[in-house]
Amino acid sequence: MTGARPVAAPIRFPRLHVVGEAEDVLRYDEPARVLDGRPLAAEIKGRVRRQVSAFRRRYGFAPALTAVMVGHDAASSVYVQQILRSCASVGIPSRALELPRSISADEFRSRIAELNGDREVAGVIVQQPLPRHIPLSALTDTIMPAKDIDGIHPLNTGLMTLGYEGFLPACAEAAVEIPKFYGYPLEGKRAVVIGRSNVVGKPVQLLLVREHCTVTICHRRTRDLAAEIARAEIVVSAAGAPGLVRGNMLHPGALVVDVGINVVKGRIVGDVEFDSALRVAAAITPVPGGVGPVTNAVLLEHLVRAARWQQTDHPLIAGRARKRRAA
Ligand code: ADP
Repeated sequence: MTGARPVAAPIRFPRLHVVGEAEDVLRYDEPARVLDGRPLAAEIKGRVRRQVSAFRRRYGFAPALTAVMVGHDAASSVYVQQILRSCASVGIPSRALELPRSISADEFRSRIAELNGDREVAGVIVQQPLPRHIPLSALTDTIMPAKDIDGIHPLNTGLMTLGYEGFLPACAEAAVEIPKFYGYPLEGKRAVVIGRSNVVGKPVQLLLVREHCTVTICHRRTRDLAAEIARAEIVVSAAGAPGLVRGNMLHPGALVVDVGINVVKGRIVGDVEFDSALRVAAAITPVPGGVGPVTNAVLLEHLVRAARWQQTDHPLIAGRARKRRAA
């Protein structure tokens, strides 16, 4: 993603206010700043809207997005509906393609191949996990990398890892764009990423390294997660474990980006215990309303970029990669 500029004042680091001897009573004298994702999402969508109309004027059609679901899953449907609404708000035609859970892997491949061949469909996202009988490779072997706007194709991962243009998962990009938008300095910071999934943990690590952070990845087998978190100036949690990160584990003044989405007693919560983190962190992204809205907006931005690439002799289409910037 390019062009996101800080629109809000940079974070001011409040003074530490010690109210007791024990570590868990260290407090800042003001609560953390809540990094709302919606202003950034609105800024990105405004840019996308202009790009879509410019594209339409130039090529005579608006680039479309197709969201594929295999079988019915309530949480996936909610997510897909949100994306369809976001698309509508910026003039991107979109549709959900619901395939039956019983579809064979071969039939699934041919449905993806059809979307590859549809000139107006510029981007394809596929809800995961797929049913057991459809290996992820059925998707990654088939989806055209230039339409893979959520960065699941190994070619895109490889390109981005080596510093070429390509797509990373929108969620990972959103996690890093929010602190940048609010002017939080990342360079040189000690960052801990909790989770090593291909969709979040690994790409977040890559993006933070690009921002010149020193990154530690933690996961279920990390020996002392609390000790790693205590040292971190930036904590990005993408574990899918509610309450995993609590305020008294954080380095006072840390920046906390919560990528977790968990349903607890019918409510959506992140991985971070928000109230206790608020008293110790300098800044924290809320769930919902933090990374989520920015993820949708980034996805749309990817779609427009994909559409442009498909209309030109872009190296990703022609099979030649172009160096973007030094990683
Ligand atoms: P996502 O796609 O949201 O990243 P996954 O379930 O694929 O979710 O991955 C979750 C990641 O979080 C895994 O890498 C796992 O090791 C890590 N994780 C989950 N629970 C914990 C935990 N309690 N402590 C540390 N890491 C965890």
